[in-house]
Amino acid sequence: MNQKRILISGASIAGPTLAYWLNRFGFITTIVERADSLRLGGQNVDIKGAAQKVAQLMGIEDEIRAADTGELGVRFVNKDNITKAALPKGESNLGTSELEILRGDLVKILYNHTKDNVEYIFGNQITELSEFEDGVNVTFKNGEKRDFDLVICADGIRSRTRTLIFGDEPIVRSVGLYVSYFTIPRASSDSLWARWYNATDSRVIFIRPDNEGTTRASFSFLSEPKGYEKLSTIEQKEILKQKFSDAGWEATRILTELENNTDIYFDAISQVIAPRWSNGRCAMTGDAAYCPSPLTGMGVSLSVLGAYILAGELSRHSDYQKAFSEYEKVFRPYVTKIQKLPPGVPKLAHPKSKIGISIFNTVINIISSKAIKKIGTLFTNKSKLSTDDTIELPDYWKQAKA
Ligand SMILES: Cc1cc2nc3c(=O)[nH]c(=O)nc-3n(C[C@H](O)[C@H](O)[C@H](O)COP(=O)(O)OP(=O)(O)OC[C@H]3O[C@@H](n4cnc5c(N)ncnc54)[C@H](O)[C@@H]3O)c2cc1C
Repeated sequence: MNQKRILISGASIAGPTLAYWLNRFGFITTIVERADSLRLGGQNVDIKGAAQKVAQLMGIEDEIRAADTGELGVRFVNKDNITKAALPKGESNLGTSELEILRGDLVKILYNHTKDNVEYIFGNQITELSEFEDGVNVTFKNGEKRDFDLVICADGIRSRTRTLIFGDEPIVRSVGLYVSYFTIPRASSDSLWARWYNATDSRVIFIRPDNEGTTRASFSFLSEPKGYEKLSTIEQKEILKQKFSDAGWEATRILTELENNTDIYFDAISQVIAPRWSNGRCAMTGDAAYCPSPLTGMGVSLSVLGAYILAGELSRHSDYQKAFSEYEKVFRPYVTKIQKLPPGVPKLAHPKSKIGISIFNTVINIISSKAIKKIGTLFTNKSKLSTDDTIELPDYWKQAKA
């Protein structure tokens, strides 16, 4: 199987992780990214459980640790910025995790560890795929045509490459929540504590420190799907203005800063449910295949793990069909467990009324109290990684090049 040429679509987390491992197993890899350069936006993400072990095996765990955002924990504040509850880092299964890094920093680390051995193509994308006996003929947006042995789609939850391969077979299921992430200048009220503010009508503003002297902000609100994710950035900013202008607390400051922002990410939080992850010589991984949603806290960990397992199975089996089916056999049961959202999520954290908000803060206080900290596990599935939902990491790395 080695020396096979593999085209990967998407240069975020899943794509470069896959390319890293495929290279170590001796494959020749190309990554095509639609954006003109790496997309470095987003807030803190975390890597845990078996994915942390994969990061260790890749030799990037120390770099991830060194890029820690410095966040000390999360304070839940009211409209007067009074802390009603707090979750210090590492003292609960909710809140700030042990290994947290800005999404963009992780993307840069993965790129730096692959750029010398992977052909990166930016500002282009696959527009047509046609399979022949020995490979796949790929047409790119710029009109170029090239042949590859296999094509892997790792281009995120709204992947168009996935549609080229699977049509509308995979379902993108909204969980009833919109979230936007963006960066704003740090203000005197910001500190190394993240602040979470619940406004009435199921709205949340969450701001977090980063290690770049700025602040990462997010707005989220419960809503049935309205197609906001398809709107232009200007229209999305307008929606957020309408939704949050009367939210109170620091909403006005954050909305003012949003006007000048250029890295906004706005999406309907959803899960991808796909009955199969491969079709012929094409397969998918990461959010494109099985996005669990940020509510699970597992988007990045699943991307890293899935990429490692897909590369490992391709290295073990010279028959790509066998490799693709083993990838699903090993990984799908774990994905299915992670995709199960705890009851009441995301509504619990987005109460509608003042009373609901007060109950939410009381619950957080209970969770943070030392005596019953473990109750936090009822409200998150983060803890599952350390209990019955662990995945035994296959030892493909033993057959990889140093
Ligand atoms: C800008 C951005 C900000 C994000 N911020 C957060 C955050 O703050 N918190 C959080 O939990 N998750 C965030 N996410 C999602 C998070 O990165 C994923 O849930 C997780 O890391 C899985 O990664 P992935 O590589 O599968 O997909 P993604 O990270 O979504 O990356 C997909 C990549 O594919 C590229 N792409 C899309 N379409 C095409 C195409 N047709 N051809 C070629 N390339 C294409 C995209 O530009 C992107 O680089 C963000 C994603 C992006 C893109």
